[in-house]
Parts: sequence; structure tokens; C-alpha cells
Amino acid sequence: MRIGVLALQGDFLEHRRKLEGVDAEAVEVRLPEDLEALDALIIPGGESTTIGKLAVKYGLVEPIKAFAAQKPVWGTCAGMIFLAKDIGREQPLLGLMDIKVNRNAFGRQRDSFETDLEISRLDGGPLHAVFIRAPLVTEVDGNAGVEILARLDDGGIVAVQQKHLLATAFHPELTDDTRLHKYFVAMIQTS
Ligand code: GLN
Repeated sequence: MRIGVLALQGDFLEHRRKLEGVDAEAVEVRLPEDLEALDALIIPGGESTTIGKLAVKYGLVEPIKAFAAQKPVWGTCAGMIFLAKDIGREQPLLGLMDIKVNRNAFGRQRDSFETDLEISRLDGGPLHAVFIRAPLVTEVDGNAGVEILARLDDGGIVAVQQKHLLATAFHPELTDDTRLHKYFVAMIQTS
């Protein structure tokens, strides 16, 4: 299985390492032709404005949209923002998921935090999740098939899936737990 990791900016190396740990081949994607022969794509955390601007510059926006029409894509943190249809402000987006996302939703005092999350599709107990200047999903379109996979204790939505598209507000690539990467691999196998 060959999984691309968008390598324009952000923590793509950590995703690479995690993928290698679950026996998937990781391929760095910087140009449209890098998408050829991939089974899926991960968009890492980082700075969504930078990732968006670079994706426009390298002509990747339309090719990623076409890729995502067929194949699984997972966005973590900035990647979640980039996948969203609506973030309430202007910046380049893929606009593939019917979710509304609030960037930097946790304000200054809680810019970064860690917590244990119950994720509905994962067995084996809560997942330790790292949030770094994280976004929050503020609306999901259930009619479009968006499912909520995880919420914070206060109800804030932090993981969603819409058919073969997955988005998490936190960074599963920064912890040792491989369950979400395995879950994505299983999504690819069944899609
Ligand atoms: N705050 C970043 C943004 O808005 C996302 C942070 C992250 O990916 N860790 O793009």
C-alpha cells in the first residue's frame, strides 16, 4: 500500500514514520505527478494558510480534489482545515468535507493541550491526543454523510469522517499509538 503525505509544510515527516510503523509505504507529495499510483493521501498539521498557498502555487488543488473523489484522504489539524468547506474566512481550501471549522479555536491560554479521547471507531480504550493551536469542528452536515467520531468533554467535535474522508483536529502522528493510522489503512482496504 502506498500512501502519500502532502509535504509542502508542517509535520509530514512524523506521518511518514507512523506509516512505516504500520507497514505502509509513505510517499512525499509536492507536485501533482506525485499523486500517481497512490492509494490514499494524508494532509499533515502545520499552518493551513501556508499549506493552502503552496498548494495553489504548485497546482495541487484541483489534482488533490480529483484524487479525493476516488481515494481516501485524511487531514490532521491544519489538514482538517484545508479539507473543510467553510472556515468563515478567506484562504485557499480544498472544500471537500461538509464541515464548518473554527481555526485556533482554543484561544491563547489553551493554545496547546493534551487529553484522552474516546473515538467511536477505535477499540482498546481512549486515545491520547495532542492539540496544538487546534481547530474545532463547529458544524457537520449529517445529510451529506458526515459522522462524528470524537468529542471533547465539553462536546467540541474533534474527529469526523465523511465516507472515505477523515479529519482529526489533533495530531495522531505525534504519539506512539498507531491505532488511527491503522484505522486509515483499513479504510483504504475497504474503500
Ligand atoms: N493553527 C494552525 C492553522 O490554523 C493549525 C495548527 C496545527 O496544524 N497544529 O492552520
